[in-house]
Amino acid sequence: MKRIVMAIVVLGAAAALTSLARAQTPADALNKPLPPVFDPAAIDRSVDPCVDFYQHACGAWLKATPIPPDQSDWWRFSELDEHIRAVLATILEEAASGQGAKTDNRRKIGDYYASCLDEEAIEAKGLKPFVPAFERIAALKDKKELAAETARLHLQGVAPLFWFSSLQDYTDATMMIAQADQGGFALPDRDYYLTDEFKAERDDYRAHLARMFGLLGDVAKTAGEEADAVMRVETALAKAAMGIVERREPKNVHHKMTLAEFTKLTPSFDWTAYLEGVGAPAFTSLDAADPGFFTGLEAALNAVPLADWKAYLRWTVLTGLVSAAPKAFVDEDFAFFQKRLSGQAEIKARWKRCVATTDEQLGDALGEAYVERAFSPEAKQRVLVMAQQIEKAMEARIKKLDWMSEETKVRALEKLAKVAYKIGYPDKWLDYAKLEIVRGDALGNMERASGFDLRRQLAKIGKPVDRGEWSMTPPTDNAYYDSQMNDINFPAGVLQPPNFDMTADDAANYGNLVALMGHELTHGFDDEGRHYDAYGNLKDWWTEEDANAFETRAAGFVSQYGAFVAVKDPSDPAKDVLVDGELTLGENTADNGGIGLAYDAFLTTQGATAGKDSLGYTPSQRFFLSYAQAWCVNRTDGYAKEEAKTDPHTPGKYRVNGVVVNIPAFREAFACKVGTPMAPATVNGVW
Ligand SMILES: [Zn+2]
Repeated sequence: MKRIVMAIVVLGAAAALTSLARAQTPADALNKPLPPVFDPAAIDRSVDPCVDFYQHACGAWLKATPIPPDQSDWWRFSELDEHIRAVLATILEEAASGQGAKTDNRRKIGDYYASCLDEEAIEAKGLKPFVPAFERIAALKDKKELAAETARLHLQGVAPLFWFSSLQDYTDATMMIAQADQGGFALPDRDYYLTDEFKAERDDYRAHLARMFGLLGDVAKTAGEEADAVMRVETALAKAAMGIVERREPKNVHHKMTLAEFTKLTPSFDWTAYLEGVGAPAFTSLDAADPGFFTGLEAALNAVPLADWKAYLRWTVLTGLVSAAPKAFVDEDFAFFQKRLSGQAEIKARWKRCVATTDEQLGDALGEAYVERAFSPEAKQRVLVMAQQIEKAMEARIKKLDWMSEETKVRALEKLAKVAYKIGYPDKWLDYAKLEIVRGDALGNMERASGFDLRRQLAKIGKPVDRGEWSMTPPTDNAYYDSQMNDINFPAGVLQPPNFDMTADDAANYGNLVALMGHELTHGFDDEGRHYDAYGNLKDWWTEEDANAFETRAAGFVSQYGAFVAVKDPSDPAKDVLVDGELTLGENTADNGGIGLAYDAFLTTQGATAGKDSLGYTPSQRFFLSYAQAWCVNRTDGYAKEEAKTDPHTPGKYRVNGVVVNIPAFREAFACKVGTPMAPATVNGVW
């Protein structure tokens, strides 16, 4: 699986308008206008911008906009997510009923979507489609057979034990190599299995496991024992796994070794059978990510009896493919993972879930239809111009840095000049000719699409890197920078209001979308991205002194953000859950750099010299308000806790207040006196 190195916002699975939560059809979302990039109605003018800028920019919106019951968080841009989903549903409904283009891809997305929507057929089949996998697992005779079964399950989209795929070679960015990485546990992070902070969540997870086994027909005693078995296996895997903060350091998660060296880490696992089973091409070396995980897997294979592994595998099938299971399983899955962990009150309408899985599994086929309908070449041209401005602003900043030597500056500028900008959608669409989609076979479609994708990823091993590939689908309302590609990717979905609008003023667009572009560009130079060179090789291009100077400045962000309270712990309200300053360091560096670059670029536009608007705001004030309004968000407490542990992004409030305190242009724009909360005497900054 290709990992998206850094995205601006983790898209929670979805979005629905307050009004839509009651009238949940695609037409409702299509009829509703998108929010403006800059929205005066969101502002709470009773709050002093120098005291709490986030509350000033978002206060009225926060009060007027409760979280819809089928969401765990709700942003101002969530209305766009909902709109995109509705456009996709319209495309899929047309394809399902045979209208529109009569291509093989349209038939496939239509059949996939229709099968996913057909809950009656899924209910009528019951667990029958799952039985072959359950029978294979039940028939395993010894632990040596786990390898071949793991391969079969990986090809079905089930994810036991570990991840195996292909990845850009960190020692030679032109080539793809095999990659094995930690995995195999279902809770959001290893700490959920291991620390006191998550004991309540862990206990409820065990109860959820027992209920799921009960739904499979096991009597209470057996179901309880199976739940314990799953907990033992997953806890062993979690113990072997590396923590999320440690994984931010690239050298911790890249270890190239020969296949012979690698298989010695886990001699009890039959790698020959696995690699054959999964259909990997022959290779002699691979990236073992964190070898310690595979040593831990060996210990788990030796310590855990076969019966426990069988219970665990059965569980991974059920939870991995649950969306194609009967309703009782879907509801129980929702009740734990979304409701208990993320605080989401209601399950999303079936059509929303089916749009999401079609986008996940047939992203290029659906994406091609989407851009035909919803992407303007003019927008692409405008965004490319903005990208050039951002790059120029970064170039000027690097040249002016007082903490970096000329030697390192030359390499930083070389890297900057090599950044590629991908806007809208890929030049080449994926060919789905070899993927079989059968109307009425929801589970089979999911399994075959997963197998198709894994085979496609594995076929890349030993081949040159395709730099045209994307890690997000075109309708996605999000963006990312990829350290190994050294490219910035803005899918068609994100280039719409409230992120960007061809008709909005410069202050609004530069405060929002252009700040995001600056954010993505800065990722190439944050604590993670700075370790990769202009071509995407993991290669140190810094002098020691400059690296130390960078670390010292970055440490300022770590302590600044680490003091913010994310939420009161919903499992123990006496406790504060703090923002993790190290986990969020890259995103905070990117936020701080991004707004600076966007502001520099903004100053070169005509809009920067416009007069005050009808509310009395100057162009600079509008720029910062627009920036802040990109991050207006209401979240459930449960989701806020989960995010504090797993999301490298800081909560919306601190993406605003944590940033503006460091920006001199902000305090000038709002005439904030030094010593007010938004204008502290000392500031942090890297770029
Ligand atoms: Zn980011």
